[in-house]
Amino acid sequence: MSAEAPIALEDVSYTYGKGARQKQILFNIDTSIQAGEIIILTGPSGSGKTTLLTLMGALRSAQQGSVKVLGQELRNARESTQIKVRRQIGYIFQAHNLLDSLTISQNVRMALKLSPIRLSERKQRITEVLRRVGLGDHINKYPGELSGGQKQRAGIARALVNRPRVILADEPTASLDKQSGRDVVDLIQELAREDGAAVVLVTHDNRILDVADRILHLEDGHIRSFTEAVSEGTSRMLNMLERHDPGSASYLATFAFALARVAYADNEVSDHERNEMRRILHEVAHLQEGEVNFIMDISMMQKRAQVELSSQSALGSFDMDRKKLLVDSLYAIAQADGHVGDEELVEIRAISAEFGLEESSPEPTVPPG
Ligand code: ADP
Ligand code: MG
Repeated sequence: MSAEAPIALEDVSYTYGKGARQKQILFNIDTSIQAGEIIILTGPSGSGKTTLLTLMGALRSAQQGSVKVLGQELRNARESTQIKVRRQIGYIFQAHNLLDSLTISQNVRMALKLSPIRLSERKQRITEVLRRVGLGDHINKYPGELSGGQKQRAGIARALVNRPRVILADEPTASLDKQSGRDVVDLIQELAREDGAAVVLVTHDNRILDVADRILHLEDGHIRSFTEAVSEGTSRMLNMLERHDPGSASYLATFAFALARVAYADNEVSDHERNEMRRILHEVAHLQEGEVNFIMDISMMQKRAQVELSSQSALGSFDMDRKKLLVDSLYAIAQADGHVGDEELVEIRAISAEFGLEESSPEPTVPPG
């Protein structure tokens, strides 16, 4: 087996339009994506995410630099090469592109039209993929009879029925409610892990960043490091907190980050932990729901970026009551999913030590173990 990355981009630039109307959208993009790796591509609207994704998907011709997908160079590639590559890619779009006049199973069957899979095996393959996405009971329904989340899952089934080695998804959760969005992303992750596909998922939904092995942040057509993006988010958060409660901003920011560290201690944040964080932040800071969500997002991103936030100024703003409240809150987060895990205990002890709480540490409300 070749160790070549399924997607490899070198010095890729892209310009729309001609002459005076031309506008460069992508600048010197370098990245490669390995089999089994899930990349989240974030960035503001208009930063070039869809353009980059369509280059990777052989849906537009590469102009400058090298775009290699599944071993094929796509720069100056002929139409026939592009088509050959496209057939090996699973595309998941925000608009699910189902045909309304066909049933769900017929829609999925369309994707197998050109596949080498024998006709006799197709039915089973279709049923299996629809069962995997949780639509086993709906295979003979029409798209109009399904909810938004179900249609999106049907779109995923269609994208995945050929077991593609590359999966490209453009804002797959944008039209979904929170829970359906989460389900769809978990599903893409599960299928990617099982099939060892390379996945690029475009989103500006901060709540799903945790599925990523790596986050690429696009800003005006340039790849920016995630850490740079996080530090910008952090200053926005501090400004917001400063307006809300001058003097306590760094305390609140540090508090939120400590909660995120415990919630993330086992590398996975459950809904229970999220809800507990939301409750605590609301009680501690009396923030509005949107503000609490924003602080949670930024804190999670800081945790992912391994930001060091034990800044001296923040430490200084923790008096004894605040320290006790912090430690109690850390245990509350750890306890949120029913039991306190070892990783969570380790993180709580580390945070307590960083805050100089080892000796004066109050008794936890919830006994460990
Ligand atoms: P994103 O997906 O990050 O929102 P896009 O890649 O869709 O960004 O677009 C990046 C920029 O390119 C935007 O300024 C957009 O207006 C412009 N653009 C996108 N498609 C075209 C096109 N076909 N022709 C000209 N400009 C385009
Ligand atoms: Mg887009």
